[in-house]
Amino acid sequence: MKVYLVGSGPGDPELLTVKAKRLLESADIVLYDHLSSPEALRLARGAEKIYVGKRRDDHSFPQDEIGQMLIEHWKTGKHVVRLKGGDPYVFGRGGEECEALAAAGVPFEVVPGISAAIGAAAYAGIPLTHRDYASSVAFVTGHHPAAIDWPKVAGVDTLVIFMGAFHFPELAAALIAAGRAADTPAAAVSWATRGEQRTVTGTIASLAAQKIASPAILYIGGVAALSERLNWFEKLPLHGVSVALTRPLAQSPDTAQKFAALGAKVIEYPTIEISDPFSFDPLDRAIGELEKFDWLIFTSANAVQAFAKRLAVSPHDLRSLRAKLCAVGPMTRKALTDMHLKVDVLPAEYVAESIAAALASHPMQGQQVLIPRAAIARDTVPDALRAMGAIVTIVEAYRTIVPASGPAPEADWITFTSSSTVKNFLALNEPDVISRYKTASIGPITTETMRMHGIEPTVEANPHTTQGVLDAILHYHHPQG
Ligand code: SAH
Repeated sequence: MKVYLVGSGPGDPELLTVKAKRLLESADIVLYDHLSSPEALRLARGAEKIYVGKRRDDHSFPQDEIGQMLIEHWKTGKHVVRLKGGDPYVFGRGGEECEALAAAGVPFEVVPGISAAIGAAAYAGIPLTHRDYASSVAFVTGHHPAAIDWPKVAGVDTLVIFMGAFHFPELAAALIAAGRAADTPAAAVSWATRGEQRTVTGTIASLAAQKIASPAILYIGGVAALSERLNWFEKLPLHGVSVALTRPLAQSPDTAQKFAALGAKVIEYPTIEISDPFSFDPLDRAIGELEKFDWLIFTSANAVQAFAKRLAVSPHDLRSLRAKLCAVGPMTRKALTDMHLKVDVLPAEYVAESIAAALASHPMQGQQVLIPRAAIARDTVPDALRAMGAIVTIVEAYRTIVPASGPAPEADWITFTSSSTVKNFLALNEPDVISRYKTASIGPITTETMRMHGIEPTVEANPHTTQGVLDAILHYHHPQG
């Protein structure tokens, strides 16, 4: 075993390296600090996570203590990852930690990350070098302005200052005193590559006169002025908008990714957790006589997965399946096609009219229909099928329960993608919490549940898919576009 010092990049989870992802996924222990990205940390699913961060006034973990902790954990034979914001060797004190490991004879590897210097430059539109403006770059720390050799760095074309937001007035004065013109272009990028990214541009003098939010990285030099034209990230249509998703991200990675691609900050606030049914017997019995069924109706991807999981532990397999398949909604269909099963009928919604309409061209008289699903409120679908002459068997394949998600997060929007997400949200929070948000409902059934609880959705999706939810939110912010 080795100890891995891993850079997590500046914040956007997609800026993590492939190697970092692999190491995090197999880690037993992750030691992290407060600029490590939370999404990166979440990849370390099975790992014990130990916070060893330091904040400005709180030097709670001296560096040699962290080195010592790495050594101790390594001795237990565990897979130890030391996760650091940005790159471990750029103002990350990775050097000291590796020296401690080397001195103790502990084998290690360093996985580079995208430094905030590079990440913020790319996202804020500040090319570090440019034929017209800059052929030299320096990275400096603004933590202790007095410790910098200002005459040496003042002449570098592009000066990148870490940890400089707090002391910038002092840094600016030192730069000007060392000969840099007060009207040199300057830019400060706070929370780079994250949903909250904000770039302030101006000159050394103008930036020194305003407050800069931390963490921020500062750029001094001609290239800083290019941000006004090249800043693509803050021009994304949902930049500055935060969206809380009430489904676990693991169940909606595509949705989270699509929101992020439009610039939104995505916050995971799962109000649903999938658990086993009260009893597997009815589902097992149905699987035992799978050949009997003419139709299988799946109403969610969870139902498909629960069915498949149970089929896998039964003596049967997919060869017992001769039924036609009906999947409600595109995600459900995807869950089936992932199992190499083709879907025969695809109603848009789990409402009697929609399913009946979709099945209208098929003879249902005497047909055996199996619906494995979550056992929740009664609905009219089975009645509608029975009215068409079908023999309907409903079995509980899974249950949705309220997870221990804690209080709701700060966000502009909250999305509800089923009635249970609404009910569980209300179970987890005080009634007035909802008024904090703009709400997006996936469709009429969810909307009805919301209204029953006195919540009027800000937008309702049409089509009733997660893509529809995203489009509705986008349309809310850009009605013309
Ligand atoms: N090893 C890190 C730097 C750690 S020092 C790297 O390579 O990026 C911490 C400083 O990095 C902060 O004070 C700030 O100046 C900068 N920084 C880190 N993440 C940042 C972010 N997302 N946006 C802006 N600055 C950031």
